Order: sequence, then structure tokens, then C-alpha cells
Amino acid sequence: MSEPTLFTRIIEGEIPGDFVHRDEHCVVIRDINPQAPVHLLVIPVKALVGIQGAEEEDRSLLGHLMLTAQYVAQKEGLSSGYRLVVNAGEDGGQEVPHLHIHVLGGRQMNWPPG
Ligand code: AMP
Repeated sequence: MSEPTLFTRIIEGEIPGDFVHRDEHCVVIRDINPQAPVHLLVIPVKALVGIQGAEEEDRSLLGHLMLTAQYVAQKEGLSSGYRLVVNAGEDGGQEVPHLHIHVLGGRQMNWPPG
């Protein structure tokens, strides 16, 4: 078996995390290095390496993650908008090899993201 990822260790309580949501399939924590007034990470319990590692069998899980992102954005009061980001692989700027959706809000977002 491969080593547990950083996010698996947070989900299992081995490393502290600031949880804002937890259900059977995913958790949501606050990012330790926030890039906006609200910066959350929606993380599946299943340690997919990233969206690039998702398969057909993950279809409903991926939908659940997106709806959970919408739910926590509403709960955090991001009524004037927010941004969801999924970094994938080296060129995508992904640092943690465990799928996660960034939920960013509380300020005006810029485009292109860089
Ligand atoms: P990515 O670059 O898309 O892989 O994003 C990884 C994110 O995880 C970054 O925004 C980090 O700030 C965040 N991060 C790293 N370690 C922790 C931690 N212990 N708790 C919460 N967020 C973390």
C-alpha cells in the first residue's frame, strides 16, 4: 500500500485541520495558506491522485464534491460569487497529490489566473 497522503492524514486526525464540513464521502477544511478571505478545500475521503486520476466509477463522487463546494460557499456567505479551482499535475500547479477543489471567495477574482 502507498503512503497516506497529507490530506488522508488530516481526514484521519493524525494532522490537525480546521474542518468546516464532513460527510461520508468528503471533508472541507480551511486552507492553511489562504489566498482569499475565504479559502476552503473540498477533499474526497477516497485518495484520488487528482482529477487526472478520476475514472468513470468516480462520476457520482465528483458531482458530490461540486455540490459540496456550492453548499459550503453558500454557508460561508459568498452570495456575490466565488471561484472553484482544481489544479492538476505539475503544469497545473498541483502540490498535494490528493484530489481537492479550492473554494475561493470574499474578494474580486482576476482573470487570467496566472
Ligand atoms: P494544490 O497546489 O492545488 O495542490 O493545493 C494544495 C493546497 O493545500 C495549498 O493551497 C496549501 O496551502 C494547502 N495546504 C497544505 N498543507 C495544508 C494543511 N496542513 N492544512 C490545510 N491546507 C494545507
